Amino acid sequence: MNALQKATRKQIKTHNERLILKTIYDQGETSRADIARITKLTRPTVSTIVAGFIEDGLVQEVGYGPSVGGKPPTIVKLIVDARHLIGIDLSGSEFRGTVINLRGEVRHRATLPAKGCVGDDALNLVYQLIDSLVQATDVPLLGIGIGSPGIVDPNLGIVEQAVNLNWHHLPLRQLLGDRYQVAIYVANDSHVAAMAEYTFGSSHADQNLVVIKVGRGIGAGLIFNRHLFYGDGFGAGEIGHIRVVDNGELCTCGNRGCLETVSSSRAIIEKAAHIARTDPNSTLRNLNETSDLTIDAVRHAFEAGDTTLQPVISEAGHYIGVAVAGLVGALNINHILIAGSVARFGAALLTPLTQEMNRRMLPTFANKMRIRPTDLGADIVMLGAAALLLKHEVGVV
Ligand SMILES: [Zn+2]
Repeated sequence: MNALQKATRKQIKTHNERLILKTIYDQGETSRADIARITKLTRPTVSTIVAGFIEDGLVQEVGYGPSVGGKPPTIVKLIVDARHLIGIDLSGSEFRGTVINLRGEVRHRATLPAKGCVGDDALNLVYQLIDSLVQATDVPLLGIGIGSPGIVDPNLGIVEQAVNLNWHHLPLRQLLGDRYQVAIYVANDSHVAAMAEYTFGSSHADQNLVVIKVGRGIGAGLIFNRHLFYGDGFGAGEIGHIRVVDNGELCTCGNRGCLETVSSSRAIIEKAAHIARTDPNSTLRNLNETSDLTIDAVRHAFEAGDTTLQPVISEAGHYIGVAVAGLVGALNINHILIAGSVARFGAALLTPLTQEMNRRMLPTFANKMRIRPTDLGADIVMLGAAALLLKHEVGVV
């Protein structure tokens, strides 16, 4: 850890320091007098703390505001690239990482193919990915946030169980902390997706929201009263294993007919492969099933007018609607966002989803529902993982 990093973590740990930095973060540009007015702290306290931020390179003076009688106030603002953060997404068939600044603007990216990679091999791939990102930036690093599939204990930073990666009780925070000597946060990929939407998305004004992430797995992240809700066993929003088809197909969890067996990207790819083998009208029939048939290939064929795929996407949307109706009906949350690779099917997925969801809810609630795809696209998990650092290390979220 270099001197700047030490200073940062010492600098912003008291309540008043966090309050003032958050005010500067929220206001964009502001004066010491306005900070004192907003925070109800005294002018000398504000001046001392802002001077510390300036010395530490977090905040700069950028000129003068309009005078309200007497000396015009000096305007201060956050230096958005004063610190960088690393966000990692381990939920897909490739591991993805990004270096972002304090406003969530992407500065560097890296990706490594991870299909079939499990256990220690997967862990080594995570090291390789982070090594390359650490080398890419010469700005002091605030820390590293990880969005992992499976059940994750965010307090201890332990991946309790990630079936796809064959990780069990993996102390990821400790392993990465020992290696990189910076703050490490680890949480479930759907949970951090909600954190991203709340922090950087167009929904940051909402007190409550639900992000449904539909990719290889399916899960929901819940923001209640501006806080991420993890649940008693860190499994809040685990809707992927709600049974939606009686006596349906066998799921990786051992049960039958789970939502993931009909609406995950894996389920959609399997069904598309079956159609490609059996339906002469399929435009996917010439693709190599094992290497070329990805969720994006299915989507491109669908968007190019392959009607054989229509029932597959409708069915996926329909069953997500079944599961989501139960979740949001019980919670009475009006704002739902859909994220993940399957969300990119857009209206073809959302229309049957909404119809089925509405059919299963009190009409008076259904009328108030807003459901749409996230604007954060494929970056959502990386941004959300890094947002955990903004919340816990800097206190600006
Ligand atoms: Zn299951």
